[in-house]
Amino acid sequence: MKLDKKSLISINPSTGEALGGVPPAGQEDVAKAVDLAQKAQYKWGLLEPRDRAQRFKKVQEALMIKMEDVARLISMEQGKTLVEAYCMEIYPVFEGMAFAIHEAWKGIRDRRVRSWVPIFASHAMEVRYGPLGVVAVISPWNYPFAVPFLGILAALSAGNGVVLKPSPYTPLLGDLVEEFFQVDGIPDGLVQVVQGDGGVGHRLVTQPGISGIFFTGSVATGKKVCEAAAPGMKRVILELGGKDPAIVLADADMDYTVEGILWASMANAGQSCASVEVALVHRPIFDRFVRTLADKAQCLKVGHPFEDRVEVGPLSNTSQYERVLSQLEEARAAGVGVLGGEILEGDGLFIKPAVVVNPPRGLRVLEEETFGPVVSVVPFDEVEEAIDMANGMPYGLTASVWTTNPSCGERFARHLRYGAVTVNDHLFTFAEPRLPWGGFRESGLGRSHGLPGLMELVETKAVAQTYCCKPRLWWYPYGKDLVDIMRGNVKGFLSPSLTTRWRELFSLPLKRRVRERVDLKGFVVRGAVRVVRALTGR
Ligand code: NAD
Repeated sequence: MKLDKKSLISINPSTGEALGGVPPAGQEDVAKAVDLAQKAQYKWGLLEPRDRAQRFKKVQEALMIKMEDVARLISMEQGKTLVEAYCMEIYPVFEGMAFAIHEAWKGIRDRRVRSWVPIFASHAMEVRYGPLGVVAVISPWNYPFAVPFLGILAALSAGNGVVLKPSPYTPLLGDLVEEFFQVDGIPDGLVQVVQGDGGVGHRLVTQPGISGIFFTGSVATGKKVCEAAAPGMKRVILELGGKDPAIVLADADMDYTVEGILWASMANAGQSCASVEVALVHRPIFDRFVRTLADKAQCLKVGHPFEDRVEVGPLSNTSQYERVLSQLEEARAAGVGVLGGEILEGDGLFIKPAVVVNPPRGLRVLEEETFGPVVSVVPFDEVEEAIDMANGMPYGLTASVWTTNPSCGERFARHLRYGAVTVNDHLFTFAEPRLPWGGFRESGLGRSHGLPGLMELVETKAVAQTYCCKPRLWWYPYGKDLVDIMRGNVKGFLSPSLTTRWRELFSLPLKRRVRERVDLKGFVVRGAVRVVRALTGR
């Protein structure tokens, strides 16, 4: 492809070399993409959920064939190690596809509702889940394959069309994701990609044909997206940043806990929304924890993602690299102990893992998302203090507690106000497609993944049908007889006194208006069942 000055250039963060580029979308390109997706979505949305799910098998096959190329491009364009490309992006995508093909669709089949309201006896009722229309999937650079892929998959499962806007830092993976949805069985044009920066993202959000926005990115941008979507009353799902705490209790298994927290803070060079950024550690074990963690962190091998045994790759882009360095610099300047955090010479954006010891409130490394191979360790004295510290953070994506006491683990699981709480583990739940993913407080709105995630991408419709053409009980004309009947209904079906219920149940069907306007058999059966239920307490 011929590149010009306007092209989005993809840079390999390990070497500083250009990998390629793509043209950014103009205003008309965005409108055209939405239009094409809308046209293709019309038929797709009419298919049964199961039928749509079956068609993902071809996507699965296509990805299975190209899996190695994808893994290599993830490492080259974003910088995570090859191991992480498989563990953190490709594997979750395959699990997500298996869930979509075999399970998720069952949750959005039409569902018959049996009404127990006696006066509605002649209606057949259902809940139906229809698509929103065309969904904008706007994605970040830190999981440049799994996040857009799983977002598209969920939106399509629900019957929507999609326009993806990938991060301008990882445009090549953005284009690649689209390719996997260009297979037999998926209508041409159903998935579109528009490349570009925040301006293109804004244009997409405000495009009239967009009915929903599945946004993953920073809190600041999430708020802008929310504002831009509000005038059009568009459905918004926001998966935003985190500053996730791991709480380490004095009874925790030290070696196991250090290894777990080390991985959860440094994997993907710390550039995960759910990375452990702060370890809150019980004071009696604080010094030993810091020593062990810092020793192990220094032993991690930092380097090119393709090299054997490399555990920490580069930061993904220059602005992220500078942000991490400036937070570390601020901490050092404030006299805080920073163990590690040196940069590696060369063109790659490599920073050695850093442990920041007990930074005071107010420093950015403790207050803001760092998004790098950095973990701050802060002591606490009482368990309640740790819970309050964690729940007092502005973010609420994931949190963990590390303890050998199950009742303590259960207590934290109940009290921590986070989208995911794990005991003696952290960061892995993104890869479990049946669990919802999302945050409390500033970490987002709505959920992705699992059935709750699918539900965010549908419009829920109530359908009630009757072919019994008697006028309804509550239609005109009004009069005292209707007042008596409705009062009788309340007493007969909802009174706490069973004697009153029986009396009304027998007297109501004798009233002329009830006989003329209600399905009497259904009315009596429902009334009787409700009395039996009240009697048996079920
Ligand atoms: P970002 O907010 O800068 O950008 C995200 C996407 O939004 C990009 O595609 C960007 O071009 C686009 N964008 C920017 N301005 C826009 C606007 N006004 N309207 C519409 N789109 C706009 O985030 P980033 O730096 O790419 O990603 C890192 C952030 O994402 C971190 O905060 C991280 O925690 C978060 N994240 C969250 C999750 C999650 O599941 N909660 C997952 C991955 C990343």
